[in-house]
Order: sequence, then structure tokens, then C-alpha cells
Amino acid sequence: MDLESLLHPLIPTWSSVVLLLSFFVYLGFAGSLIPGKIVPGAILSDGTRLHYRCNGLALLILLVATLEVGVRMKLVSPTVIADRGLELLSATLGFSFLVTLALYVAGRNSHDQGSSLKPHITGNIIHDWWFGIQLNPQFMGIDLKFFFVRAGMMGWLLINLSVLAKSIQSGSLSTSMILYQLFCMLYILDYFFYEEYMTSTWDIIAERLGFMLVFGDLVWIPFTFSIQGWWLLSNKVELTKAAVVANCLVFLIGYRVFRGANKQKHIFKKNPKAPIWGTPPKVIGGKLLASGYWGIARHCNYLGDLLLALSFSLPCGASSPIPYFYPIYLLILLIWRERRDEARCAQKYKDVWAEYCKLVPWRILPYVY
Ligand code: NDP
Repeated sequence: MDLESLLHPLIPTWSSVVLLLSFFVYLGFAGSLIPGKIVPGAILSDGTRLHYRCNGLALLILLVATLEVGVRMKLVSPTVIADRGLELLSATLGFSFLVTLALYVAGRNSHDQGSSLKPHITGNIIHDWWFGIQLNPQFMGIDLKFFFVRAGMMGWLLINLSVLAKSIQSGSLSTSMILYQLFCMLYILDYFFYEEYMTSTWDIIAERLGFMLVFGDLVWIPFTFSIQGWWLLSNKVELTKAAVVANCLVFLIGYRVFRGANKQKHIFKKNPKAPIWGTPPKVIGGKLLASGYWGIARHCNYLGDLLLALSFSLPCGASSPIPYFYPIYLLILLIWRERRDEARCAQKYKDVWAEYCKLVPWRILPYVY
């Protein structure tokens, strides 16, 4: 095979560019028009705060329903995404480069001194391009950080649905594919149901918008988290009943810990006196929660996410490491993130953080780490 035919599936056609841009245009317009709960973001260092319109679930349902109508009317093929996987990947990658370039230029030219748009320039081009220059850049009134993560999570579901359609079309639908699809769908719907919780996460409150986040949201989330689905299209796995039950248990436990921990922290930030597991919370220095999951291990929410990631891969059996890409990557990412967040919290909370660490010595995995 020559280089040209190897690279050919990676070259975006106009149809994949149009697909991608239509998706972003839909998210931009519908996101601004459809009503949703307005959630105040974290208070920034200059005392201001952004407000987020959390209408992601409505947007997603409307989009899937519209696509369903389009499929029934034979206006769009259900496998339109699955048939163009690599093309869409490279189109999205190209788009991410262009967006980051625009963010870099806009950031460098900004004279805004507010916390959201104040430029943070280190002088190291690679660093500034990778980590970004501004905390909350906007485009036509849309907060881009919130927009991109929403696009990535929806894109993941759209890819999965198209892969599911392809597997039904080819007659290869298996228990493994159903489990993988079901778990991911529940996870993504849950994400949008609790979209407001996203407003207090590290990415939103602390990370500037550079290539790392743009690429992470637009390319990494949808295209690598769906590897299991692509893999199952061409690999057959026989699952025993016991394996199916064990897989469902990993998902349910992971979900309980993940959602429970994130919910407890979110509720605590809104009302530090709200009961946790039915009793008044243990609060350190009036600022940190040391009850519930946050009293078992620091960043216990990461443990839940890791179990969920594992449950998305277990349907693929143990014959190949490829479908385990996501949980392995997430393990590395969350350990790294936990360390960065620990350093940030130690600096922000000082003695209060030290007291919390003494009271809750475990990180992510209780009694182990
Ligand atoms: P957290 O939601 O854990 O947020 C960290 C922040 O929470 C800290 O900076 C601090 O912020 C606050 N905090 C930490 N400990 C306490 C405490 N004991 N009491 C009160 N506040 C505390 O982290 P992330 O934003 O990184 O993650 C959110 C979710 O997203 C997680 O479940 C994670 O697994 C998931 N995630 C998933 C990824 C994926 O690729 N699947 C990638 C990244 C995250 P403050 O200064 O406000 O107090």
C-alpha cells in the first residue's frame, strides 16, 4: 500500500467538514436560544463570576430526535459518522489547531484586566499555546470552555449511536456492544442531567483554555472514549452471564461513588451545612468537606470515574489491550490531575488543607494510595 492510499481516509472531505461545522452551529444557536437553568459559576479572584446556561440535556435530546427524524425521512444515514470516523477525526483535529491559534492571538492582544480575560503570558510560546492565555475566553457571548466540553460529550454519544447503527446494519450486534453502549449512554445522559455540577470542576474554575483543553474536549473525549465501540465492530466477544453481572456491578458501584462524591462536593459548596448521608457534615476550617466520600479519600470522585471507565471496557473481554485505552489513560490523567490539584489546594488552603490531609490521609483509593 502506498502512502497516499494510507493517508487517504484521514483527509477530510467537504462533507465531514460540513457535518462538523453544522454540529457546532447547532450547539451555538440552540445553546443560546433554548431555555435552561442559569447557574452561577465560582467566584473569581476579582470578585466577579460567570453564569452558565445549563440546557445541555434539552439540546442533546432535540439533536438526537432531529437526527432520528432525518434518518426516518432518509435525509441522513444513521452510519454517517461511523462511515467517516478517520476523516472526522482529522477535521476535528484541524479545527482544534485553528481554534487554539485564534485563542492564542486573541489572548495575546487582550488588554482586559478582569479575571476571566486577563492574559497570562509566560513568554514560552509552547507553554502559552498548550495551557492557554485566558481563563474564560468567549465568542459571540458563548463561554468557549463550557461549549467545547459540551460538544465533546455530545460528540461521543453521536459517534457511539452511529457505531451502534453500523453494528445493527452489519448484523453483528452483540451483548458486549449493548453493554458498552448502555453504560456510555447512561454516563453521558447523567453528565448532561447534572451539567450544572460541571461549573465547579477544576477545568472550568482553574484551567485556562489552550490546546490541551480544546484538543481534550473536541478530539480526545469523543474519538478515544469510543474506541471500544469501534473495536467491537470488528471483534467478537463471548461473555458469560457471570461476566455480564460483574460488569454491571462495576458500573453501578462506579456510578454511585462518582456521582455521590461530585454531588456531595457541589451541594457542600452551595450550602456548607447541608447534611451528608443524613448527618451534619464535618467541615474543616469552614472550607473543606471531610464527610461522606470526601471523608473516605481525597478525590474519591476519581475512584468512581475510574471504575466507570473500567466498566466501559470490560464488555470487550481480555483478548486485547486496545479497548482498555480509556481506563489506562484515565488512570494516568487522574493521578497527574490529583497531584496538580493537591498542590493548588495546599497553596490555596494552607493549614486547613494540611489538617484535612491529616484527617483523610488516603488519596483516590482508600487504604491503598
Ligand atoms: P474535583 O471535582 O475533584 O475538583 C477539585 C476541586 O474541588 C479542588 O480544586 C477544590 O476546589 C475542591 N475540593 C477538593 N477537595 C475538597 C474538599 N474536601 N472539600 C471541598 N472542596 C474540595 O476535580 P475535577 O474538576 O478534576 O473533576 C471533576 C470530575 O470530572 C471528577 O469526577 C473527575 O473524575 C471527572 N473528570 C473526568 C475526566 C475524563 O476524562 N473522564 C477528566 C477530568 C475529570 P476549590 O478551590 O473550589 O475548593
